[in-house]
Amino acid sequence: MSDTTSTQHRKVAIIGSGPAGYTAAIYAARASLKPILFTGTVPGGQLIYTTDVENFPGYPESIKGPDMMEDMRQQAARFGTDIRYARIEKVDFDSSPKRIWADDGEEFTADAIIISTGADAKWLGIPSEEQFKNRGVSACAVCDGFFYKDMPVVVVGGGDTAAEEATYLASLCTEVHLLVRRDQMRASKIMQERVLNTENIKVHWNTETQEILGDEKVSAVRVRNNQSNEQYEIEAKGFFVAIGHKPNTDIFEGFIDMNDMGYIHTDGKSTNTNVDGVFASGDAQDFTYRQAGTAAATGCIAARDAERWLKETGLH
Ligand code: NDP
Repeated sequence: MSDTTSTQHRKVAIIGSGPAGYTAAIYAARASLKPILFTGTVPGGQLIYTTDVENFPGYPESIKGPDMMEDMRQQAARFGTDIRYARIEKVDFDSSPKRIWADDGEEFTADAIIISTGADAKWLGIPSEEQFKNRGVSACAVCDGFFYKDMPVVVVGGGDTAAEEATYLASLCTEVHLLVRRDQMRASKIMQERVLNTENIKVHWNTETQEILGDEKVSAVRVRNNQSNEQYEIEAKGFFVAIGHKPNTDIFEGFIDMNDMGYIHTDGKSTNTNVDGVFASGDAQDFTYRQAGTAAATGCIAARDAERWLKETGLH
């Protein structure tokens, strides 16, 4: 199908506006694929909740997350990406061409689809957590750990993510207090051993967060032992929530193969999904690295994969 048969048809539709989506758009637009990109409800994705980004190449003086995403948006737009501020709420990948529905009532068809819907960190849901987000509360040690160098921090969670974050932070921070809500960790044996053998990690078993305390920034955390009911305060400048992530892939269920956590399966080093012409990039398909840099890289791969697929199928 060519662009002229329907104003609503596109060669490439990109769903999501984090580093993966915008990078896919930059590459697809520069390859004359005239992509349309749907930003979702939060244009820019997870990074707009971040203050200083110091580990994305090209910004020697660091950059604010929202500013970096605005740069990416402008770069994608400059090459002709049709950016729509809408959320895709339904898809049909069985039809040919594939169909997608936006929450503003518009319906589109596309030959190739690039999924870049990301994953959201899970949060505890207590009011003080919201209050101190970006002012001591974080869900990414690799992103924000450096800001708490030589300071004490708290990590919440008992899985592999929490174990990894605690171990990472232990190399930077004076003391890491790991709050585990049960009397055991869910993390793999080897990760648990690493945690227990690191001198400056203190595990608080059966311990839940009551409140994050501070004035402008986090200064302490009030916790409760759920066995003894004892409450106490831990001095901490950083509070890292590491209780898992949820990929934003619900709308693709039934069409796309995923693992039991909802992360999309991609084939080897490619971004190919099980559906011909549908590609997945960024945190929606990567639960291991979850960095802006790796998301951007897979967005680039997805655009190249889509371009090759369109050529091979005679659609471009
Ligand atoms: P998991 O779901 O494995 O673990 C979540 C942890 O957070 C559990 O200990 C859980 O406690 C705890 N938790 C959940 N909700 C709360 C809450 N409200 N308050 C306090 N604690 C809470 O998530 P992960 O992100 O750790 O791991 C996801 C997957 O990714 C796993 O398969 C893991 O193996 C994998 N992974 C692998 C890594 C590696 O190999 N390097 C690194 C990171 C992740 P409870 O046990 O009581 O439910």
